[in-house]
Amino acid sequence: MGNRFVKGYKCTICGKFFKENEASLTCPDCGEKGILDVVFDYEELKKVLNLDYFKKNTDYSMWRYAPLMGVSNEHIHEMLRIGWTPLIKSNNLAKLLGLKELYIKDDGLNPSGSSKDRASGVAVLKAIEAGAKVISCSSTGNAASSCACHAAHMGLPAVIFVPKRAPIGKTTQICLYGATLIKVDGDYKAAFQLSKAAIDKYGWYNRNAAINPWMVEGKKTVSLEIAEQLGFKPTDWVCVSVGDGCTVGGVYKGFHDLKELGLIERIPRILAVQSTGCEPFVIADHNNEPLKEADENTIADSIAVGIPRNPIKAINAVRNSHGVWISVPDSDILEVEALLGRTEGIFGEPAGVASLAGLMKALKEGIIRKDESVTFIVTGNGLKDPANAQKAITQPEVMKPDLAILDKYLREKEII
Ligand SMILES: *Cc1c(COP(=O)(O)O)cnc(C)c1O
Ligand SMILES: [Zn+2]
Repeated sequence: MGNRFVKGYKCTICGKFFKENEASLTCPDCGEKGILDVVFDYEELKKVLNLDYFKKNTDYSMWRYAPLMGVSNEHIHEMLRIGWTPLIKSNNLAKLLGLKELYIKDDGLNPSGSSKDRASGVAVLKAIEAGAKVISCSSTGNAASSCACHAAHMGLPAVIFVPKRAPIGKTTQICLYGATLIKVDGDYKAAFQLSKAAIDKYGWYNRNAAINPWMVEGKKTVSLEIAEQLGFKPTDWVCVSVGDGCTVGGVYKGFHDLKELGLIERIPRILAVQSTGCEPFVIADHNNEPLKEADENTIADSIAVGIPRNPIKAINAVRNSHGVWISVPDSDILEVEALLGRTEGIFGEPAGVASLAGLMKALKEGIIRKDESVTFIVTGNGLKDPANAQKAITQPEVMKPDLAILDKYLREKEII
């Protein structure tokens, strides 16, 4: 298991250090809440991961960072291609927002259509390394569909738990990839609890993002890519939406690793975005109090997480990057979903574009200045949730096949 660059784990609560074989998934002393952080041997890594390594590496996927992900190389070549998604320099949107430099990291272009592939790829490899017979997770939908996707490719059975409100695009994916789908009559909290009980009882490999410390190591590759795609000079800010907190934890860890390796000079500030319909982190930050359970009342289903499962990594990510927590109403999310499509030709799901809604609010409030450079991550593809996208557009009426009617219509629209 693991590789020579991994020193062990550090508990995010008590700070105790464990060798890889001394802890399983969470801290033996702190229990379920004692989420572990993987500790790397940066001095050893520095001998391998230098500019020359990246220049010579022709693996244009997240696996180019394998030494920094704690996976062994044995099965990597059999996996689907994950990551190295495009970092697009914005033209139209940047102009519209008055920003000099704006980049869009389109992670909706991963195999199952979301950033979750980065974590699921690692999970499936780890499950195979551990000789697991079944992999399992609960998720608002994307972790579930990506886990099903990569498990299918590697011939590993998957049992997936989702809340009953998971959008049809995502549940269809899960079934299509041949996983056993348990659609729980309840919210994400209920799905998480049932999955946990089942995983404990049957001994399946646990892909639950918060519990499994390796998931953040997969997610962090998004930052490794952003940095490398910008010649190791990342933007001043990186904006990302937050549900459980693993993604934002990964975004920070990636930049943190590169700084430790001496490959970047500073860590971008993180703008962490929630929906006002489900904003436990934003409330806790605003009131300077511990995290409290929140309602899960947002169309951005991927970030509708009332009890975040990875709070410490998320809070540390924002704090250590001198970042900011912000929340945006669903109406803003729908508006920018259409705006992003219209101005850049990129179709994101609601949680995927919440980062842009957050950026626009942060610009308005003077949190981000127009002369600062910004990247926002589109974490999920819009085709996963066409029902909500339809609320952001005007449906065309059916037209008789008649040129005169078409002519009149085009005039009204001022197209001719
Ligand atoms: C999971 C997810 C997020 C948030 O990630 P967390 O680790 O839950 O904070 C954001 N956007 C999309 C599309 C997601 O699937
Ligand atoms: Zn501990």
